[in-house]
Amino acid sequence: MQIESYIRAIPDYPKPGILFRDITPLLADGEAFRHTINVLADRYRELGVTKIVGIEARGFIFATALAYAMGIGFVPLRKPGKLPRKTVSQTYALEYGEDKLELHADDITAADKVVVVDDLLATGGTILAAVEMLKKQQATIVECAFIITLADLPGAQRLQQAKIPYYTLCSF
Ligand code: 5GP
Repeated sequence: MQIESYIRAIPDYPKPGILFRDITPLLADGEAFRHTINVLADRYRELGVTKIVGIEARGFIFATALAYAMGIGFVPLRKPGKLPRKTVSQTYALEYGEDKLELHADDITAADKVVVVDDLLATGGTILAAVEMLKKQQATIVECAFIITLADLPGAQRLQQAKIPYYTLCSF
């Protein structure tokens, strides 16, 4: 199955000049969505993964389905101020300004082997912030997995430079 064919390109969204990759057609097709999750579950099933970590918000959709399929736990990395217990956090640069991710400090420990899931890899700022937090917790990062990579942006290269294993289901 061609996962690419379920991703819609939306010109000038959210700003003029941006070609947004819309994953909602993939989610809306039961067979394509299940195939996507099965590919990831087959890839990670025998590796002793203890937690699937998902990045707010679209990453949650794939990460929770993957955790369910594998029968293991899901841990959210959230935007600031959403998590009620003690958190660790990491600030990262956006095109204009900065953003932050937070993790419940006791959700991930040095005993965890994690797969980190987001829908799309662009500059890599988001995933590298996620990786920093997981390193602070001394977790083992099995792989960072994406549905889409934007190949003309440096995310994949930055992960490679940081020696973080990376996997994508499709590239544009
Ligand atoms: P990065 O931090 O790698 O520059 O950007 C990746 C983050 O931005 C991901 O969390 C992703 O959800 C979001 N993102 C950026 N561009 C797009 C896009 O075209 N489509 C989708 N679905 N998400 C995007």
